[in-house]
Amino acid sequence: MAVAQKPRYVDLANPSLSVECPNCGLRTARFVDHCRNCGYKLWPSSEMASAAFKAWRDADPSRAAASRFDLDLPPPPIDDTVDFAERAHTLGIHLFPNSNYPFIICVGMFFLGLAAIPFSAPARITMAVIGGLIFLYGVVGWVLVEDVRMYPSDSPPTQGEVHH
Ligand SMILES: [Zn+2]
Repeated sequence: MAVAQKPRYVDLANPSLSVECPNCGLRTARFVDHCRNCGYKLWPSSEMASAAFKAWRDADPSRAAASRFDLDLPPPPIDDTVDFAERAHTLGIHLFPNSNYPFIICVGMFFLGLAAIPFSAPARITMAVIGGLIFLYGVVGWVLVEDVRMYPSDSPPTQGEVHH
């Protein structure tokens, strides 16, 4: 007599990822076919356990990040982004602005370095002038233009607790 193979019932409403093993009574992953503690077979096959897990997971969008090998749902992600510029302003710490001028300063230093090589005097002077101009352009742009733009005045009206 053929017995109909009834698919194993999955309680989709139960939010738990873990189950008490009927054999050893310890807590184990609900959708893994073997009990992790005693090896008792919880599901007829791994495929069936996986199918049950997928049905359980798709029943609720909040279970999307769940793993069938875990005992609990993953905790919600923590928003730990920090606005360091804002923090520095609050604490009165000076931060240099994000800038491309350091690259220009490095190009200037490259030509200044070439000027240190004992070539003929006119070549060295030319290199030193070119390097010095580029270097000064970078320093002025970074420190005097961009930095001042980011911190409009170094002596704001006294806030009381900030300046001592
Ligand atoms: Zn067990």
